[in-house]
Amino acid sequence: MTDNTIERHDCDVMIAGAGPVGQVLALLLAQQGLNVSIVERWAQPYPLPRAVAIAHDVLRVLRQLDLGEELTPLLEPWGHEGQHFSFADSSGETLAESGYPLESDSGFPLMSGFSQPDLEQLLEGRVQAEPLIEQYRGFSLEELSADESGVTATVLPHTGAALVHNGRPRTVRAAFAVGCDGANSTVRSLLGLEMTDLGFDRDWLVVDVLPHTPPTWLPYACQRLGPARPTTLVPAGPGRRRWEFMIMPTDSQDDIDTDDNAWQLLKPWEIHPGNAELVRHALYTFRARWADQWRSGRVVLAGDAAHQMPPFLGQGFNSGIRDAANLAWRLALLVNGKGKESLLDDYVTERRAQVSQIVEATVAVGGLICMTDPEQTAQRDAQLRSAGAQGTQHVLTDWTLSGGTLRDDQIGGKLGLQATVSTPTGSALLDDVVPPPGFVLLGRDSDPAELLSPAQRATWHRLRGRSVHFGPGGLTDAEGKYAQWFDRLNTSVVLIRPDFQVFGGVPDPGATGELVDQLAGHALALD
Ligand SMILES: Cc1cc2nc3c(=O)[nH]c(=O)nc-3n(C[C@H](O)[C@H](O)[C@H](O)COP(=O)(O)OP(=O)(O)OC[C@H]3O[C@@H](n4cnc5c(N)ncnc54)[C@H](O)[C@@H]3O)c2cc1C
Repeated sequence: MTDNTIERHDCDVMIAGAGPVGQVLALLLAQQGLNVSIVERWAQPYPLPRAVAIAHDVLRVLRQLDLGEELTPLLEPWGHEGQHFSFADSSGETLAESGYPLESDSGFPLMSGFSQPDLEQLLEGRVQAEPLIEQYRGFSLEELSADESGVTATVLPHTGAALVHNGRPRTVRAAFAVGCDGANSTVRSLLGLEMTDLGFDRDWLVVDVLPHTPPTWLPYACQRLGPARPTTLVPAGPGRRRWEFMIMPTDSQDDIDTDDNAWQLLKPWEIHPGNAELVRHALYTFRARWADQWRSGRVVLAGDAAHQMPPFLGQGFNSGIRDAANLAWRLALLVNGKGKESLLDDYVTERRAQVSQIVEATVAVGGLICMTDPEQTAQRDAQLRSAGAQGTQHVLTDWTLSGGTLRDDQIGGKLGLQATVSTPTGSALLDDVVPPPGFVLLGRDSDPAELLSPAQRATWHRLRGRSVHFGPGGLTDAEGKYAQWFDRLNTSVVLIRPDFQVFGGVPDPGATGELVDQLAGHALALD
């Protein structure tokens, strides 16, 4: 704001696009008391399957949205019955195999299968029930103008497929706007934001199937490699399976994306109309790119609007939800007048660096998977055979954040651990004892907040931070995992952000105040 007048906005944050990223962001913002408007072209959530894998840290974000008992039945932890993922050569011979960890630093299985439409319906129900969120479904954002005090969006009635002829425009005025409007983002185009494109565009046919009974003869998850048609098989949520077939130069362009062709491709896997339902088939061009800049003043991008990647590591959807979690607390601080403007630049720094790393890793794996030259594939197969399980495990790791709103201490940017803790009334996961969202000081054996000076206490209060600790008068480390974690990080106090990322840590509890001062330096506007 440039003067002392208080401007009335229609909402605090306007979100373009009610895909999963827009929905989750809206709910996270409402949880912090912000008024949100969502503008979405389609009258209903997209009904067909897309992403099929939720990573552990993203599940932790979803779990804080009070989706309750309805979320668990939508998930199938990968490897829940000891199943494996395998790489097989063209003939089907297994080259390498590995299991799926059912544990992670977030307290959940490393990956869980899900069906995106089921999750979007659940989120949609919550969005509709939330009084702080107003949805403009059946409206398309067409124009955006921003000034120093806010953003004005012009929206027009839309059928989902096209603008309604002669539809009456409306305007929505917001303090901030977020483009969660997918791969062909209007917001990105209106802002003229360029993209870095790794040029890894590949056409695959994605086929989703609902077998009538569990197909016990099939591998649980596997990558059948070339030189013949590279094919991926993955679990796609409870009872569902997904095949992805690479389109080969010899394929006829006319009948690729048809029921007949999908059944034909499924035949070698012994899947046919007698034992399965074909849920969808879609020709999908995998792309590997990200926006060079994700922010222009009060407008930022998130989700597929900011980045797209091939699905080989199952990180596209997950990266979008990580964007939402990273952004929500920043916008809350800014809307409440406490946050420093650079918080949004820090969002871009952190997310763009992580996403570009993931896109590059995905392209590296994709290069191996999409290989069809017989000599190269023979060499690759030999390498995979000799690497065995080790060769397949390195791909599903956590990616730390860097730069941004983090202390530069080798601890900042790691994921905060969630494990089971005990209190006098019972045992539970940390988030059930210290419900998110919020900044948390976590002490190894004493209350870190006790060591803050009065000024630091006031700052901590301004950040609405909480403090918990293990040991006398505090929590019990029920599984001993926190002790190991503190050892591993060589620290005794950590400051965790509302998106579960560690801001930083100190080995000496007496230095806790430094953590609070440094966070305030990064995040808080001067009084
Ligand atoms: C076939 C397929 C398979 C996939 N498989 C995987 C996978 O295995 N793993 C994975 O992680 N990801 C996968 N993805 C990607 C995943 O679905 C996306 O990453 C995820 O949906 C992104 O969510 P989003 O909210 O950013 O964008 P979207 O889900 O694309 O939502 C954007 C929304 O914005 C709306 N919109 C667009 N323009 C406007 C406008 N001007 N005004 C108003 N509304 C607008 C759209 O209607 C849409 O509802 C797959 C995608 C496809 C298509």
